[in-house]
Amino acid sequence: MAVLSIAKVGNPILRQIANPVDPASIGSRRFQEFLDDMFETMVKYEGIGLAAPQVAQSEQVVVMECEGSDGIPQTVLINPKIVFYGPTQSEMWEGCLSIDNMRGKVVRPSMVRVQAYDRQGVLQDIEANGLFAVCIQHEMDHLLGKLFIDRMTDMSTLTQLEEFDVYWKEESSTVI
Ligand code: ZN
Repeated sequence: MAVLSIAKVGNPILRQIANPVDPASIGSRRFQEFLDDMFETMVKYEGIGLAAPQVAQSEQVVVMECEGSDGIPQTVLINPKIVFYGPTQSEMWEGCLSIDNMRGKVVRPSMVRVQAYDRQGVLQDIEANGLFAVCIQHEMDHLLGKLFIDRMTDMSTLTQLEEFDVYWKEESSTVI
C-alpha cells in the first residue's frame, strides 16, 4: 500500500470530468491495490472521503469512511449515479483535502439514493442520509470537476481553519 499525493485546487485534473471505470477491470490486482491506496491516503490525511481525481486519477471512483455515531460505513463507489434526491435540504460546513485549511457552508439535499459498483464489482443501490448523503454528493462532485466552493451560495461563510476554530467550531455539529 502507498500514500498517494493529493492534487490541490488549481490542478487542472480537479476540473475534468472523470472517465468511467470498465467494470471488468474492478477485480484486477492493479485496481484493488488502487482502492487500498485511496483508503490509506484518505486516512493519512484525516479525510472522510476521497475521489480518484484528488489523487490525479481521472476515474469515477470514490472511497468513504467515518467512525462515530453519525458515521459513514466503509464505502467504495465506482461509476456512481444519483437516482433520487430527497425533498429536504441541509446546510453543513464542508472542507476538502484539495483545498487546504478552508471551510464553507454548503446547502445540499439531505437524502440521496445512489447506484454504483462496489469493490467486488456488484451493482449496489444505496440510500444515504445526513453526513453520508452530503459526503456522497461532495465526492461525486469531484467526478464532475466541481469543488465545494462552486456549490457555496453564501461566500461570506468561507473561513480559514484557524478562524473556524475560534468563531464557528462551537455552532457546527458536523464538518466534512
Ligand atoms: Zn473534496
